[in-house]
Amino acid sequence: MFKKFLKQFLKKKTFGWSAVVILLIVLSVYQFTWQTAPLIVNFLDIGQGDSTLITMPNHQVILIDGGPDNSVLYRLGTILPFYRRKIDLMIFSHYHRDHIIGLIEVLKRYQVEKIIYAPSKFSSLTLQVLLATVKKQKIPTVLINSTAQLNFSPNCSLSFLNVDSLEVKKAQNNSLVVKLNCQHRKFLFTGDNSATVEKALVNSGWDLTADVLKAAHHGSRTANSEEFLQVVQPRFVSISVGVKNHFGHPSPAILERLSRLHIKFKRTDQSGSIQIVVPNSP
Ligand SMILES: [Zn+2]
Repeated sequence: MFKKFLKQFLKKKTFGWSAVVILLIVLSVYQFTWQTAPLIVNFLDIGQGDSTLITMPNHQVILIDGGPDNSVLYRLGTILPFYRRKIDLMIFSHYHRDHIIGLIEVLKRYQVEKIIYAPSKFSSLTLQVLLATVKKQKIPTVLINSTAQLNFSPNCSLSFLNVDSLEVKKAQNNSLVVKLNCQHRKFLFTGDNSATVEKALVNSGWDLTADVLKAAHHGSRTANSEEFLQVVQPRFVSISVGVKNHFGHPSPAILERLSRLHIKFKRTDQSGSIQIVVPNSP
């Protein structure tokens, strides 16, 4: 049936061959776009909280945390194409409200394919609502107890480390460490981990080096220790923080430390969402 239609279509010579040429051009542009898609990391401006959206070169979309309210929906709407209603992977760094409240509405409005998080012995009403929403939608979940790696392509991967598996006190700020290694660039996300956990991370021997670091705990002075920064050696630090927040984040001491170590930084309360584009490389 289709062959017969194609024959008849091509018989109308001029129109037929023009269509074939157009089709070939469309296919090659599509292939070019596919192969040269950049890695895009967006530190979203969602007020006092954390939310990072990553678009991988293979077009998969990853959301780490969702901020303290539904403003994450607006940010997603301005970055993702209107037809993109799927999030391939959602990651919870930990369960504080400024990291997970926004995720509840994201789960209702987007098709989330998979969720990765570290089990927690701490509970809260917000966490119960979040996990109930996940369960209701039957979304596959992966719990990280120690370390894991997820490969997206030969040169793009995500590594995970549950800090509770290190010699640290289990505390509510403890966050799943996520490292993105892609297109020869490395990004490190450490949630709200404290300086005590940073010390354990340094002692763990885990490869912490990164070009870009999301400042831990919104630039708090209880984190972002000098020793940790010396080991990570970031060239750029992104600070997710709300305008005139009650916590005094980021700490002036941390900003001074970054300047002294010649590490460039930006803050979402001053710059809005911070976007980093890494062009495709072979
Ligand atoms: Zn936080």
